[in-house]
Amino acid sequence: MKKKDKLAIIHQHYPKAITTIDSVNKFIDFVEGVLDLEPSHVMYADSICSDDVNSIQYPVRMQEFLGPFKMGGLDGFPFAGLTGMGAFASHVPDEGAVSIYYGPHIGITKTGIIGEIHRYGQAKNSGCCGAAKGALNKLMNGMITEGNVTDLDYQMNTIEQILFTSKERIMSAAIPLKEATEVIYEAIDKRIEELVAGTIYNCKYLVLFGAIHINSDTDIGSFNEARKLDVIDLKTGQRTNYLQ
Ligand SMILES: [Zn+2]
Repeated sequence: MKKKDKLAIIHQHYPKAITTIDSVNKFIDFVEGVLDLEPSHVMYADSICSDDVNSIQYPVRMQEFLGPFKMGGLDGFPFAGLTGMGAFASHVPDEGAVSIYYGPHIGITKTGIIGEIHRYGQAKNSGCCGAAKGALNKLMNGMITEGNVTDLDYQMNTIEQILFTSKERIMSAAIPLKEATEVIYEAIDKRIEELVAGTIYNCKYLVLFGAIHINSDTDIGSFNEARKLDVIDLKTGQRTNYLQ
């Protein structure tokens, strides 16, 4: 399938999405052209879902960066916390940058079904994000108890609690899973900002790249729709929005 045909499917739900490969190429141009750095001087971390599809569809050119350090657990929430954030902040070259790509993910099949993808070797589609779908199913059936977070399923329970706080917004949406994904993005973004505020960096820049990450079938690949591209100059503290 041609790229324009793949994009036409994804654009039905995410009109500004581009392929992850194009996103990485643009980001490398940005690092070289705007930040005046080599990718090898950028410590790259991501906070995306631990779903195997994200490893299978990981863009090859990301290997030009240092990393990735993995912040994310289920649906991309930064479960590695302050300790994780502090760890890669201390691994970055002195004159380099830290860059964090983060966000929840959602599947869209090549036939346009949202919340599912076709995975290699399987006859049927499966859920994507499975954790978000599971939490949404519990929300819709009144099965989430406020404050119920267990050791045995800590990450899933955390996702459930995030959705629980926006129950009306999600339930009244035309596509509840899509709205739930936006709710989870907002929770991830808020937590990333909190973690950044509590971390000391010894390099030139911090780059925050927030997005909705969109997976499609194995033979279609992945996409993203940017929500934030902020660069913080760590010497001056000045933050610049480069989203446009
Ligand atoms: Zn997932």
